Amino acid sequence: MQRRIGVHVSIAGGIDKGLERAKELGCTTVQIFSHNPRGWGLGNRQEEEIVRFMALKKSYDIAPVFIHTSYLINLATSRQELLRKSIAMVIEELNIADQIDAEFVVLHTGSAAGDDPGTARGRAIEALKQIAAAGTWKARLLLENTAGERGDVTSRIHDLAGILQQVPRGLIAGICLDTCHAFSAGYDICTAKGLDVLAREISAHCGRDALRLIHLNDAKKPLGSGVDRHEHIGEGMIGKKSFSRFVNHPFFSRIPLILETPKMTADDDLRNLGTVRALIGKG
Ligand SMILES: [Zn+2]
Ligand SMILES: [Zn+2]
Repeated sequence: MQRRIGVHVSIAGGIDKGLERAKELGCTTVQIFSHNPRGWGLGNRQEEEIVRFMALKKSYDIAPVFIHTSYLINLATSRQELLRKSIAMVIEELNIADQIDAEFVVLHTGSAAGDDPGTARGRAIEALKQIAAAGTWKARLLLENTAGERGDVTSRIHDLAGILQQVPRGLIAGICLDTCHAFSAGYDICTAKGLDVLAREISAHCGRDALRLIHLNDAKKPLGSGVDRHEHIGEGMIGKKSFSRFVNHPFFSRIPLILETPKMTADDDLRNLGTVRALIGKG
């Protein structure tokens, strides 16, 4: 089967418009926000746009569809009100995913903000167990590795594995690996050895089949910077040669790719997609 490649697209004008944008770019998979990711409001989705979204998804054969959750969610927080809202929001995102037939929901688990990371992760695990007890969904969560910014509790694969092991697999399908975040968190994916180490770490701690999605992003800042700033593919600190090795590495070569690279215009997406397509098969 052909490798699935897509970008994060805007849903301005309706979620169905997002799929049209993806199709125009030649995407075979896609990621969207289900609503404004910096607000708690869910907005109003019309019945027609949902019906049209599902019809287009089928006719364009765009799958899987990934919903990226709101940036406000923090399941590791000690603030009760924020935790309550975060749990409710994850449940809503899963509901929306099932409504529109999206396969996966991508989640940044949360951050500790001055607290002990282990304690904070424990809170996130409890929150995820609460979510698992609150319903059943066809869509499943993917935990994304984070960039190692202050308070991050999920920048190491080992940390993600600790969560995966304690939450029912019916809720969480596995992980999403963001290349910019991994590099910023200190994983040297620019060497063959560093790449093998990362692959082994994922396989040993999370399981061979846990990796379901790769966010393919170059990084503006150097290795281990702890800063989450995405760059165009091949134009940042990771570079074209390293991406060529990465996308063709046997462990990573069959996983769907979603680009979250900077975009001023659709041309930026076209250029980045072109770069990635040219690298595939040239490792
Ligand atoms: Zn993300
Ligand atoms: Zn990402």
